[in-house]
Amino acid sequence: MWRKKIFKELARGQRQGLSTASQSQSVPASADVVVIGGGSAGCHTLYHLAKRGVRAVLLERAQLTAGTTWHTAGLLWRLRPNDVDIQLLANSRSMLQQLEKETDLDPGWIQNGGIFIAHSETRLDEYRRLASAGNAFGIESQMLDPNETQKLFPLLDPSAFMGSLYSPGDGVMDPAMLCAALKKAATNLGSVVIENCPVDDLLIEQTSGAAKKVIGVVTPFGQIKSDFVVNATGVWGRDLVARHGSHLPLVPMRHAYIVSESIPGVRGLPNIRDHDYSTYFRIQGDAICMGGYEPNPILLEPVPKDFHFGLYDLDWSVFEQHLEGAQKLCPPFGKYGIKSTICGPESFTPDHKPLMGPDPLLRGLYHSCGFNSAGMMFGGGCGEQLALWMINGQPDLPMFSFDLRRFTADQGRAVQWIREKSHESYVKNYSMVFKHDQPLAGRDFQKDPLHDEMLASNAFMEEKQGWERPGFFLPSKDVNALVQPYDWYGSYGHPRLQNGRYEQVLEGDLKYSQFPDNHDLIGEEALSCRNNAVVFNMSYFAKLLLEGPEAQKAADWLFTANTNRPTNKTIYSCALNDSGGVEADVTISRLISGSGRVYDPKFEGQGYYIVAGGASAFYTYSILADEILRQGFKAQLHDITSEMGVISIQGRNSRRILQPLIDFELTDAELPPNGTRLAVVNGVGLRILRVSFVGELGYELHVPKDDCVNVYRAVMSAGKGYDLRNAGYRSLYALSSEKGYHLWSYDLRPDDTPLEAGLGFTCRKSGNDYRGKTAVDKQRLEGIRRRLVYFTLHDQVPIWGLEGVYRNGVPVGFLRRAEFAYSLAKSLGQAYISRPDDAIIDADYVKQGEYEIDIRGKRYRADCHLRSPFDIDGQRVLGNYT
Ligand SMILES: Cc1cc2nc3c(=O)[nH]c(=O)nc-3n(C[C@H](O)[C@H](O)[C@H](O)COP(=O)(O)OP(=O)(O)OC[C@H]3O[C@@H](n4cnc5c(N)ncnc54)[C@H](O)[C@@H]3O)c2cc1C
Repeated sequence: MWRKKIFKELARGQRQGLSTASQSQSVPASADVVVIGGGSAGCHTLYHLAKRGVRAVLLERAQLTAGTTWHTAGLLWRLRPNDVDIQLLANSRSMLQQLEKETDLDPGWIQNGGIFIAHSETRLDEYRRLASAGNAFGIESQMLDPNETQKLFPLLDPSAFMGSLYSPGDGVMDPAMLCAALKKAATNLGSVVIENCPVDDLLIEQTSGAAKKVIGVVTPFGQIKSDFVVNATGVWGRDLVARHGSHLPLVPMRHAYIVSESIPGVRGLPNIRDHDYSTYFRIQGDAICMGGYEPNPILLEPVPKDFHFGLYDLDWSVFEQHLEGAQKLCPPFGKYGIKSTICGPESFTPDHKPLMGPDPLLRGLYHSCGFNSAGMMFGGGCGEQLALWMINGQPDLPMFSFDLRRFTADQGRAVQWIREKSHESYVKNYSMVFKHDQPLAGRDFQKDPLHDEMLASNAFMEEKQGWERPGFFLPSKDVNALVQPYDWYGSYGHPRLQNGRYEQVLEGDLKYSQFPDNHDLIGEEALSCRNNAVVFNMSYFAKLLLEGPEAQKAADWLFTANTNRPTNKTIYSCALNDSGGVEADVTISRLISGSGRVYDPKFEGQGYYIVAGGASAFYTYSILADEILRQGFKAQLHDITSEMGVISIQGRNSRRILQPLIDFELTDAELPPNGTRLAVVNGVGLRILRVSFVGELGYELHVPKDDCVNVYRAVMSAGKGYDLRNAGYRSLYALSSEKGYHLWSYDLRPDDTPLEAGLGFTCRKSGNDYRGKTAVDKQRLEGIRRRLVYFTLHDQVPIWGLEGVYRNGVPVGFLRRAEFAYSLAKSLGQAYISRPDDAIIDADYVKQGEYEIDIRGKRYRADCHLRSPFDIDGQRVLGNYT
């Protein structure tokens, strides 16, 4: 198999390392991996491949670092508001620390520490949160008052700010020195770097169906055949791939900093990040490099191919806004002149995260671009993950938020959407990160069939992966909390749309130390679901059809649960990677071939209807479709998400409300729990599933898109006597967490196995093998070293995720998911905990501890549960209410 293949040795003569311009007239005929681009991303990938015995060829159009890398500020900060970033940065940093030992070349790493400045109590809360998360990963940091901060950086004016977070392990690297060291290490191990060698095109082979495979690259000096090609071309990332139908959501922008004259007393001071003033100081010898993120960055059209070691003139009308804050914070900075300005191109993306991993359309092509002004600090960590991705078929860390497949092909093609979203992400790069924040840019990209009904019912809409979905419903007096057209934050001549109702409502939910303003409103939705019934519009959920002569064989391999069941049975299952990590969790129903309508499909062989979370819909589709192709199953996977809406009625009165509308008796015999069948509602044919995402008696109506409004209105009308109401995703997530159900990419990810997540029951013990079974069986035999547990807090204090977990005073994990459980009336969090000695973790170990949760630096007592304490026997989904 292609991923298992042993990487071939390169031809002897091509192993000797750097080929200079004069040598680059010849290129090897083949390579194990071709890396295109010699910036931070390319050099790091080459290095990590070489370290693992893969001898790749790196092709650089000009010289190494000629793109964005050469003019970078090179800062590395360790603390970020999510655990994957923290681990990637830690890996970058340890690589920087060891590189000199390996190569005798100094990568220019200086550990001068970093200070985050705060101008408000809320910002301090954010820093406390970062510090607490850092503790869980062993990252040292301290909260300081202004005077303590000034001791570390005497040039600061302590009256200009409220406090700071100091991270002594932060530092800077030198891009040229770093890339030279990486090149030396990689070429010593047999890799080849060829400069002045542009890649003009990709070599593509048409494989079965619409699939295409990259089989090498074309250069002016000949072709290089390879099964693996890495696109690490930075701001040029879209150029090579667009002509082959792959469109990256990436936009180049100008990004800048200025370098001061020498300032006495600066040498050796820590770097500064002032998020509120949107500026940073990078200490460079005796000078301060100062840059920031402005609301009106210059968005670029494609950057010319020959823009090597290029810079733009600094546009002071864009940049000058940073000066005031910088001078206030550090008065001496304003007293010295500016030695030079650095303004170069950098690639930005819609969510300020890189674009990495396999291309979903061009097999064999991997991306590593779109680094959003963080490509130096992420370089080492991301380069390592990309190398592992190619070698093992998957990265070590759960890289979904970096994975290109979080975007659909439509999003990659939507140039205006990319520009708006990337602009907002740039502008908000230094904004506080709140769990319930929502973007204002790129809205209404994808609307489901009930969108207008939701708005008419005063939905406060959220954006998720391009879809609009109801977050919660405002009381009727609060009309018009509509998302307004994007105003570019008042930049580029657009008038700023001040104080829109949407922004006002949003603002109320952006908190750290208090519950959101809409906490009670969401609680009413949640409790209505528990005590009565509510309707969730789940239309944006992924809906897939798997069919074909080998659909059963494919389902056996793809899913852990036994799908070979009687038709019309719906089961919950995981789909794993080779290491047993959970790549998706889905419900899957085996169907009988039907009339050909979208809810009743006609097919040859077997057919399965698969439903998965909407936030990772395209990712789920991609990994399943890719595996079907890889295994050569005679089966097809169709994405029918846009063809149908989903109206979910949940709660103890759901059956009573629905019954008058349905053409059969909604008894357990006619539609048992986890059953599905066809139905007619108000004259409309549809599929009904008796399933629940919230742990209640409930039904999902899967309705052709054109009939959704009709059915929705019929349901709402039938529910009038029961006070049936709408509910949104905020309450849905709170309810599902309370019930102990999982939310993929939060408490269930590719680094979690079903046994660790308490989902061992989904893994069948007999029958054909499923993907990842070997790893699951091994864990069954040996036991698990980490385990998902549930915490309820004694105090009424909000939690957001990332809070550290302490057992008997010792750190054992951090909260991966945090909600308020309204029926339990407690904050509830999920964490994977492990033993400090990394031994097997059993139920007794969990039960015997005393637990505390570190919330912004203060520890709160918590009860630990092996399962969520709500309706442990699962009686409610059966319709058994007392
Ligand atoms: C002002 C500024 C300050 C920054 N500060 C920081 C910071 O403090 N910390 C941090 O982490 N990051 C920072 N960054 C961001 C960081 O520098 C970039 O994210 C990083 O350098 C991007 O590296 P790259 O390899 O993706 O792209 P590049 O460095 O642009 O490399 C891409 C390479 O691909 C080559 N190429 C393109 N097309 C082809 C082709 N067809 N064939 C062959 N070769 C090709 C190009 O010549 C180029 O050398 C900053 C960026 C800017 C602009």
